[in-house]
Amino acid sequence: MMINTNRALVLFSGGQDSTTCLAWALARYAHVETIGFDYGQRHAIELAVRPAVLEKIVTIDAGWATRLGEDHMIDLSLLGRISETALTRDVDIAFQENGLPNTFVPGRNLMFMMVAATVAYRRGLDVLVGGMCETDFSGYPDCRDDSMKALQVALNLGMATRLKLETPLMWIDKAATWTLAQDLGGAALVELIRSDTHTCYLGERGVLHAWGHGCGTCPACALRARGYEEFAAHLTE
Ligand code: ZN
Repeated sequence: MMINTNRALVLFSGGQDSTTCLAWALARYAHVETIGFDYGQRHAIELAVRPAVLEKIVTIDAGWATRLGEDHMIDLSLLGRISETALTRDVDIAFQENGLPNTFVPGRNLMFMMVAATVAYRRGLDVLVGGMCETDFSGYPDCRDDSMKALQVALNLGMATRLKLETPLMWIDKAATWTLAQDLGGAALVELIRSDTHTCYLGERGVLHAWGHGCGTCPACALRARGYEEFAAHLTE
């Protein structure tokens, strides 16, 4: 693949989606930095697995090792303080009256992108990469393509920049996300994502299932497990 001379900043949480996005960016852009947010998540396990994923992903491809740059860890505890959700408070996961699950942290992705844009401005980066997806998502309105497109316009107007927001997972489901990882980094990347990334809403690490670590029953685990099963079924066909 031709390497794009643009410099990218990947929103990297340590989960399956953002790790796949990181590989996607490393395969594509001349220089790639990462950004993570500590917003008072009830379970900071995702953040804890980030360094190991960063350390291991560069062993998959020599080119990736030369292109991966700085990691930026940002304290967004403000978000945890002003929001009341199942990800930031000790309450059960449930659907709210407005039809959205209470794992929805209002404004989270908008704030993430805005802070990422600010860091990109300072670092001279051209592209923001995020794992937002509206294919089999939990109905989060800030994962929608229209939300991201509108935000791209707003950010560039507000900062006089030409930042590009890329969302490589927007139109693919979880099975296709595993396939994308396979295409980008082969079995080594699939194995890294399976065993080192974290997605579970309950912060459970526990045993290593075929699809990775997690409780197996929360919405995030259910989605990840179903996607992996579909992906694995195609592999053996
Ligand atoms: Zn879970």
